[in-house]
Amino acid sequence: MSAQENRVMALSEWEDRWQEGKTGFHRSEVHNLLESNLDKVVCGRNEVRFFFPLCGKAVDMKWLADMGHTVVGVEISEKGIKQFFAEQNLAFNEEPVPAISGAKVFKSTDGKISIYQCDLYKFSSTVGGKFGGIWDRGALVAINPCDRQKYATLLMSLMNNDCRYLVDTLEYNPELYKGPPFFVSEEDVKNVFGGGCDVELLESVDAFEEKHKSWGLDSLTEKVYLLTPKAQ
Ligand code: SAH
Repeated sequence: MSAQENRVMALSEWEDRWQEGKTGFHRSEVHNLLESNLDKVVCGRNEVRFFFPLCGKAVDMKWLADMGHTVVGVEISEKGIKQFFAEQNLAFNEEPVPAISGAKVFKSTDGKISIYQCDLYKFSSTVGGKFGGIWDRGALVAINPCDRQKYATLLMSLMNNDCRYLVDTLEYNPELYKGPPFFVSEEDVKNVFGGGCDVELLESVDAFEEKHKSWGLDSLTEKVYLLTPKAQ
């Protein structure tokens, strides 16, 4: 039983973070573990359709689009989405999403990046199609621990047969910090994705930084796994 099992963040708390500028999770550079493992996701394919669950304003979206891939993200905060387009100097259009009440989609005018502004659990392959690649950073670790199976089932339903899903996780002592980001072990990943996917640990790095001391932590390990659909 994890110390964090019952912790719940409301959607409004995420929006508050955006309003208050408390977005310490955001990185201004392309993520090193996406960069070092991109070949294993792309596998020589061109124009891969990438999915970014809980995308925030990740600069990785622009980086992949510049390589010729297309990107679809889902993010609850309109403020975060608008900051993404402004900071990346991308013109965009805004449209309602008839299938999801209250949702909007923000699309770069070149059509390469679309970000749905809605609760992730309302998104589906009916709305956004299926994907050849997924980059999950600050997503599996950000959702409420009680929602992990629901999350994994949704993400697996968005995977094409040739999909490569890269997921970034954090391991630390969950007794010391309440999260998010939450602690996610290899066993947790296998428990929720193992039914539909093969799970391979690709890289494990010491990610402890000065700021983690103020969280009360003394160590932090970042791990990326590659998830591939099991042969049917
Ligand atoms: N992946 C991004 C953001 C990580 S923080 C990055 O690495 O920088 C998690 C993000 O998910 C926040 O921007 C928050 O607003 C958003 N979010 C949290 N729960 C959500 C939900 N249920 N549906 C859509 N977005 C959500």
